[in-house]
Amino acid sequence: MNVLIVNAGSSSLKYQLFNTESKTALAKGGCERIGEEGGAISHKVPGKEPYERLADLKTHEDAIKLVIETLTDSKVGCIGSMSEIGAVGHRVVHGGPYFTGSVLATEEVLEKVELCRELAPLHIGPSLVGIHACLDVMKDVPQVLVFDTAFHSTMPKEAYTFAIPQEYSEKYHIRRYGFHGSSHRYVSREMIKILGKPAEETKIVTCHLGNGSSIAAVKGGKVLDTTMGFTPLDGLMMGTRSGAIDPAIVSFLMEKENLSAAEINTVLNKKSGILGVYGASSDFRDCRTAMEERKDERASLAIHMLAYQVKKYIGAYAAAMGGLDAVVFTAGIGENNNIIRSMPCKGLEFLGIDFDDEANDAVKRPIETTCLSKAGSKVKVYLIPTNEELIIAEDTEAVVSAL
Ligand code: ADP
Repeated sequence: MNVLIVNAGSSSLKYQLFNTESKTALAKGGCERIGEEGGAISHKVPGKEPYERLADLKTHEDAIKLVIETLTDSKVGCIGSMSEIGAVGHRVVHGGPYFTGSVLATEEVLEKVELCRELAPLHIGPSLVGIHACLDVMKDVPQVLVFDTAFHSTMPKEAYTFAIPQEYSEKYHIRRYGFHGSSHRYVSREMIKILGKPAEETKIVTCHLGNGSSIAAVKGGKVLDTTMGFTPLDGLMMGTRSGAIDPAIVSFLMEKENLSAAEINTVLNKKSGILGVYGASSDFRDCRTAMEERKDERASLAIHMLAYQVKKYIGAYAAAMGGLDAVVFTAGIGENNNIIRSMPCKGLEFLGIDFDDEANDAVKRPIETTCLSKAGSKVKVYLIPTNEELIIAEDTEAVVSAL
């Protein structure tokens, strides 16, 4: 089946046409500046020249129409007509307490997604706009919603409950939800295959390290705990997000700097993390260059902080699971930077990790699944390139096939 995977942002719409038999993308691309001046589409079909053009994109509907026009174009496209799209799979950031798996986008389901809006206003609003645009333009094509939070819905109460007055938790659905679920699900599934033992017996820590980063403890194929919380701000420090900090810093800074709730939110989400500590960039590559080539102390501190936090969570989750079979690194930083894999694993010999520096330093492009632990290592360390699209496409096909 060809599944059109859609990820809608406030002024953007990213897409992939994914074939579930060949497990490959037939086309990828994105529309930018929707609702603004200078709208454009960029589109890539493997084996063909990349295609870009400006287009007046007033709404997400205009964008999705242009995507279909481009996919079915005789020169730059890859399919003959819209009928070759079997289903649409939407990536939705937050499923709140309502969704533990992927579902068909019915009216009833969309009403529940609407209830998740206040949990992630910046993400759910655009997702809903994208979903409605696709429903309007592709009336006969089934649409499936795949939630970033769903894989984490197996967490036990003691892991997902915050120690605040429970009437607030209940009133506002405040709890740990966790994010990057499709990525943690994909890499833990691959790791279970590599371990070659029954899924129920496996204990894996998955480290998704990108602009947004999270770690999950996956015990018996199910999430026991994860670092992101009520929102994707919790846990590890990220490109521009603070990660977990003493919550009293929030009210302290609001008072001292006379900041509103929106302003402190911006500080913690957009001005913190690597950017906040290093100061010059939120990109791990820039930070590493500054540390290695210019001996920049703040860059060095940012990298050592992140590595330390990753190490700390590996240890914490090994304890929470009562053991450890494997650690997996994935996503932009985890896949492309040897030091963020080696630094956290050093000093964990007592846990059974015998890290293989040679294998780690020899990782080449294209990035493939690679073992980073020595042959006799009790705990396996792996680099596994993530494939969230495969999970979204498979789930979409499964939901549609069951109709
Ligand atoms: P997002 O969370 O936006 O999907 P990514 O997973 O793409 O983010 O991760 C972005 C981070 O990955 C950046 O900090 C960047 O430095 C790093 N990164 C991405 N590609 C590379 C690369 N080829 N080499 C080194 N670092 C990379």
